[in-house]
Amino acid sequence: MDTARIRKGFPILARKLNGKKMTYLDNAATTQKPRQVIKAEREFYEKRNANVHRGLNALSREATELYELAHENAARFINAGGIEEIVFTKNATESLNLLAYSLGENIRTGDEILLTKMEHHANIVPWQELAKRKKATVKYADITEDGRLDIEDLNGKISPRTRIVSVTMASNILGTINDVEKISALAHEAGAKCVVDAAQAVPHTKVDVERIRCDFLAFSAHKMLGPTGLGILYGKSELLEEMPPFLTGGDMISTVTLEGAEWNKIPWKFEAGTPNIAGAAGFSAAIGYLEKTGMENIETHENKLLKAGLKRMAEIKGVEIYGPEKGPRTGIIPFNVDGVHPHDVSEVLDGNGVIIRAGNHCAQPLMREIGVEGIARASFYLYNNTEEIERLASSVEEAKKTFGV
Ligand code: PLP
Repeated sequence: MDTARIRKGFPILARKLNGKKMTYLDNAATTQKPRQVIKAEREFYEKRNANVHRGLNALSREATELYELAHENAARFINAGGIEEIVFTKNATESLNLLAYSLGENIRTGDEILLTKMEHHANIVPWQELAKRKKATVKYADITEDGRLDIEDLNGKISPRTRIVSVTMASNILGTINDVEKISALAHEAGAKCVVDAAQAVPHTKVDVERIRCDFLAFSAHKMLGPTGLGILYGKSELLEEMPPFLTGGDMISTVTLEGAEWNKIPWKFEAGTPNIAGAAGFSAAIGYLEKTGMENIETHENKLLKAGLKRMAEIKGVEIYGPEKGPRTGIIPFNVDGVHPHDVSEVLDGNGVIIRAGNHCAQPLMREIGVEGIARASFYLYNNTEEIERLASSVEEAKKTFGV
């Protein structure tokens, strides 16, 4: 991967932070945007701005085409059946909430929802709230000492009352990649629906919903070079057809009388109100960028950075690294420095222009499971390079000196 060339296409990567070269290693939180994405959004507002699915005029038709094309692009990117299987939401969190309300309508007293102990809050809280509303139970599959999902435990926790199994494809802290194909098969054997939180997977590896055979899959455009404010929910068309809408109002109806309403066809039944049209234009550009670069190339590059980063960080005495030693993982290095709070580590790094994330990463149950209050996390993407790994490592060494450990 020619990162020097790639970096020229991301204007923000040229900026300085605290007088130092900026080293952006917080890609699991959000990614930076290439010129193509910024240009697509600007061009929409400069040349095509109109509302979609309404005006019988050329401008609205153009905006509608562009908006629907973004659904087509998303469908191709994850190998979905077509645009009817792609719902645009605000973010992955909203995609999961949509499911907890709409799919959750069928949950009855005593039913079970199975999650894992490595979920992001976005894949915990909506299900907990659903369980409260319906008097259902939420169960959690264990993780192993080295941060892998204990699949035997998960299998053992599937019961005849399990209705939904919702798991992350890649952990936002440990980077662990879960065997969602297998989990989906186990869920289906028990007659449960399988939901995959792919927010940390779709940006980094080739995700194919046909191969996974999951029923639903959620992710966010902003973690894959696209704009904020746009999330995606993939759902099998026959399931989306049966489900009631989540939000109601304009655009999601076919007819409205004073007595009631009939719903629009899928996916529009799930997209009430004016959507993020400019965001959709940017998202198409992001998908185009990733496809041109090649997901395999991105994965190989991140793996190289991960290997080099793990090796370099392991050389620093007093640094503990989390996550599986064996098995697939994404380009995330979760670590702690013995005797220094992760917030303090992050602050020293910030002084050197190195941006990482420190804290509980919206996964407090996982933190408790690991037995730490917080973790420092460096996460890579296609524009990162080994020079930045060195800047990360030397800044961690500096943090140790600063705090006298
Ligand atoms: N799931 C995982 C695994 C995540 O890492 C995140 C965000 O970090 C989310 C869900 C929620 O994504 P968003 O904040 O875009 O809704």
